[in-house]
Parts: sequence; C-alpha cells; structure tokens
Amino acid sequence: MSTSVTFWGTRGTIPTPGAHTARYGGNTACVEVRDGHGHLVVLDAGTGIRGLGKHLAAQASPDGVRAHILLSHAHWDHIQGLPYFAPFFKKGNVITVWGPKQGDVEMGDILRQLMQPVVFPVPLDALAATLEVKHVNAEPIETEGCTITAMRVRHPAVTLGYRLEMPGGVSVVYVTDDELGPAGQYDVGPKWHERFVKFIGGADLLIHDAMYTPEECVAHAGWGHSSYVEAVELARESGAKRLALFHHEPEHTDDATDVIAEKARDVAARNAGRTQIVAAAEGLNITL
Ligand SMILES: [Zn+2]
Ligand SMILES: [Zn+2]
Repeated sequence: MSTSVTFWGTRGTIPTPGAHTARYGGNTACVEVRDGHGHLVVLDAGTGIRGLGKHLAAQASPDGVRAHILLSHAHWDHIQGLPYFAPFFKKGNVITVWGPKQGDVEMGDILRQLMQPVVFPVPLDALAATLEVKHVNAEPIETEGCTITAMRVRHPAVTLGYRLEMPGGVSVVYVTDDELGPAGQYDVGPKWHERFVKFIGGADLLIHDAMYTPEECVAHAGWGHSSYVEAVELARESGAKRLALFHHEPEHTDDATDVIAEKARDVAARNAGRTQIVAAAEGLNITL
C-alpha cells in the first residue's frame, strides 16, 4: 500500500509568481500526504493550499472532504493560504487543523485574527465546514491514515517538525523551517541535534529547509534557516533514504535552484551518502 506525497507549494517566506520560478513554483509551503486508502494529511497552509483546495473541491466524494492540516508554525508563509482553502466553504466537510500553541496564544486565536472581518470577509467561526483547531502536544496524533509525532526545531517562535508513520512502515518527516547551524537562540532543550537525528531516523522521505547556499547561510546566521549542504549532511547522518530540498529562497530562480540541486547531489556523493536528492517542485509527486 503506497504513500503519495504531492508538493503544492515549495517557496519560503513570500509567494514569488513569475516566469523565473515557474518550474519549482512560487507558492509557499503546502504538501499533501495520502495513504493507500486516500486518507489525507496536509502539511502547512501556505498559498499552495489554494490549489490543493480547488483540486479537493472538484473531486469531492459524497462523504465530503476529510482532512487533517498540520501547521509547523504561524509565520505568514505557512498559514496565508488557509482562508482560501475551498473545502472550508462547503457543509459536510470535516477539517481538523493542528498546530503548536505560541506561548499563551492559542493557534485558534491566531487563525481567527487571520480571518478577522477587517482583513477577510468570512470569519473562522462562520465556515460552512466543520472545523476543529487542536494543539499538538507530546502525545502522538492518530489520524485514520497515520500516526504523527512532533518535535520542536530551531526556528523563531514555536516551530514543529512532524514525523508521519504511514501504513506499510513508510515514514515521512517534514521540517520546513529549521536552522541546523550553531547561530541563533532557540528554546529546544538539551542534546537537540542528537534527538533530532533520532527523530528523522531512517525516514523514507525527509523534506527539509534548504533555503540558502552556504554563502547566504553565513550572511543570514540566526535567521532560522539552513543551507542545502547542512540539509544533505543531516540526511546522511540520520539515514534518510530521500531528501526533498524545501522552502526555496524567494530570490532563487529556477536555474539557481537547478544548480543547488546539482551541488547538493555532489556533496552527497563526496560524503558517500546514499540519499536520493531532489529539489521540491510544485506539482512533484513522490510515491513511497
Ligand atoms: Zn517559512
Ligand atoms: Zn518561519
């Protein structure tokens, strides 16, 4: 029974539409994961979720849409598409949004602000679909299709990485915004790197922040992101079988991203890594 992973948004920080980003895509973070029965988990709700929502609305079954949306954190590029998710506007759809509490602030309150009348015409509490917003805590999340665990990563505010255990022993790890370098102060607890490598341990697919070149990474130390070299090394260290470079820097054109993917493969080959590497592109589907 196979797991299907489809990228609807791969860009970091801000949407970058245009001819120069047409191949890898200009929409911000959103990834669709399905088990062999079609049960749906959505990773983040950047502007890419609009396309996914349209797709779901077009093929809705009589039972309606059932989806679990996992938010890594509440930065714009991970929530901005949520108000435009078409299944929200149809009665009978049942959607659960999961995310970390930000200090004392409930994720539900953050999303309510995102859809306040002054900035969006339909309030969160007036959606036609049945919507529940839940906090991610230490307990694993059990959905119809998979078991999900979370780990706090090195990024401003409370940001989570997710590990999805799918049927048939397939695992997908999603870590969109994460600083692997030593700069930056993040409240992630002791022995973070060791625990993080274990968390990823042998994943069939690791989707990880690879926003910068090594040179850009030095210039942006403490900003909460990683270079493709660091992402490749993490994949090798943690035994990930495939690595999708993710959260592309808005200034990187498609040609620049091609070069990054090529260099990332060179780094892996030099270090005798066995990880298959791809730069995540809008529309890319990976079957595991
Ligand atoms: Zn981001
Ligand atoms: Zn962020």
